[in-house]
Amino acid sequence: METKRIGLAIHGGAGTIERSKMTPEKEREYRAGLERALTAGCEILKRGGSSLDATEAAVRVLEDDPHFNAGKGSVFTSTGTNEMDASIMDGKTLKAGAVASVKHVKNPIGLARLVMEKSPHVMLDCAGAEAFAKENGIELVDEKYFFTQERWDALQKIKEAEKHGGVGGKKFFISEHDRHGTVGAVALDKSGNLAAATSTGGMANKLPGRIGDTPVIGAGTYANNQTCAVSCTGDGEFFIRAGAAHEVSTLMEYRGIKLQAAAQMALDGVKKLGGSGGLIAIDKNGAVALPFNTNGMYRGYVDPNGRFVIEIYR
Ligand code: ASP
Repeated sequence: METKRIGLAIHGGAGTIERSKMTPEKEREYRAGLERALTAGCEILKRGGSSLDATEAAVRVLEDDPHFNAGKGSVFTSTGTNEMDASIMDGKTLKAGAVASVKHVKNPIGLARLVMEKSPHVMLDCAGAEAFAKENGIELVDEKYFFTQERWDALQKIKEAEKHGGVGGKKFFISEHDRHGTVGAVALDKSGNLAAATSTGGMANKLPGRIGDTPVIGAGTYANNQTCAVSCTGDGEFFIRAGAAHEVSTLMEYRGIKLQAAAQMALDGVKKLGGSGGLIAIDKNGAVALPFNTNGMYRGYVDPNGRFVIEIYR
């Protein structure tokens, strides 16, 4: 079935993003990255490509951009390694693929897609995921590829703060100031199919082996043609406990609530548990919602006239 409406929304993470701490140059770079991601996804949708291809393409662009906490530019664990998580879901078939704690995969979202399409499983982690990547010709890189000075300095800052009792009362995790950067995309294609994709380096100073909401289907990522597609960002533990992404869909399906309100209610559920962050969602008619409860979220979407809207602050 051909629908005319296409839709795309992306995020580059939510957190304490202060205008006063942002230089005009840095802001331009973030905006340019978001614009490149929207362009990559939008071009695919405009020529009739699938929402799966569009979300994967948009997320790849952000994984390759060192400003965002996914792929190159991922945050460091407490032992100074990079461990990345990613997932993708097809709203038409409800098929999904995810990878967790991968260390050498240049584009974790591509591997998540491959897990969905070429394995009988939904989630692979660590060495098994990387062996599967190798077998299937996915690009693997040296760990050094993911290094950025900014993320390294952020880890040192937390380590220093830990010596004095933790950051913002949280012993292990980074303060909201340095955390943002997870990336995600949701899309509706011309055939009426929805898809969602999310990729992250996780939370800085996380314990090695920690897995957040990003690769957990129903928590950080969910898509269902009957309702919506969702990609989340924020304190992963709380998004997992709230089943946040799936919650948006069930509120729509079982209670007949519209996208915007359902997205806000799901996020309020995360907040009630003590978690902060945001999410992006798109419904089967192409309406988008981009709520967040932090003071900023890197985000963008294509409006009904085909124009790009890119925002950072509240
Ligand atoms: N949700 C991600 C995680 O917990 C982090 C983030 O989105 O900032 O791994």
